[in-house]
Amino acid sequence: MFDTLFEKSTLTHTQSTEQIRARLGEVRERIDLSARRSGRAPEEITLIAVSKTHPPEMLRQALDAGASDFGENRVQEAEAKIEKLRDAHVRWHLIGHLQSNKARRVVKLFDCVHTLDSAELAARLERLCEEEARRELDVLIQVDLGGEATKSGAREDEVPGLVEALGAATHLRCVGLMMIPPFYDDVELVRPLFRRLRGMRDELRARRAFGSGGGELSMGMSHDYEVAIEEGATMVRVGTAIFGARG
Ligand SMILES: *Cc1c(COP(=O)(O)O)cnc(C)c1O
Repeated sequence: MFDTLFEKSTLTHTQSTEQIRARLGEVRERIDLSARRSGRAPEEITLIAVSKTHPPEMLRQALDAGASDFGENRVQEAEAKIEKLRDAHVRWHLIGHLQSNKARRVVKLFDCVHTLDSAELAARLERLCEEEARRELDVLIQVDLGGEATKSGAREDEVPGLVEALGAATHLRCVGLMMIPPFYDDVELVRPLFRRLRGMRDELRARRAFGSGGGELSMGMSHDYEVAIEEGATMVRVGTAIFGARG
């Protein structure tokens, strides 16, 4: 999958567009196969093209090739791209750690925040939605199941309290759970973590934590999205397999 590495400087615009189109097609096909293999409908899986570090022209190429959702991890970087692609129909996902001093811009810019991990942050976003007259903001609770994986994410025992806080919010909609597992070369080692997150989602869903929704599961990246889908992912965040290696 990674045999044709991107060489930005040597590719013409057309070549680069065709490459992104081909890669996007391949990822879609693999999503399809993984879904069918596990008895799921491919349509229930949203492909988020992780466009961090890549210039707006490449996002435009991905859009032309049918991408609809972009994932960015830095607010400032995303702001410039969102401005440039204002005319396009895009859903913007914040997948990076949310610093509280950037929260207002997040409320103004993003459609969905995958990295909610504290009640303080929820309260701040809720207040900013009010101030910015933003009616609704979709959020996912980032859960830290690996423990050592990242410095962000709520611990498993903190999740019920967060769900409760979100249930009381009028602007924030808790739409699911997200996870960034530790990186293992052997993706089978991640499978149990994916499975655990799904179990949590199922329990929360039974308690109607996600309102009328089924509860999204944002998990799976370039090297493990197929396993994630087998374990129930409804949102996969794929960067490298679409845009090539980051510089
Ligand atoms: C960068 C990133 C991705 C995409 O990673 P790839 O390996 O390039 O697919 C997915 N999720 C998060 C949170 C990221 O920061």
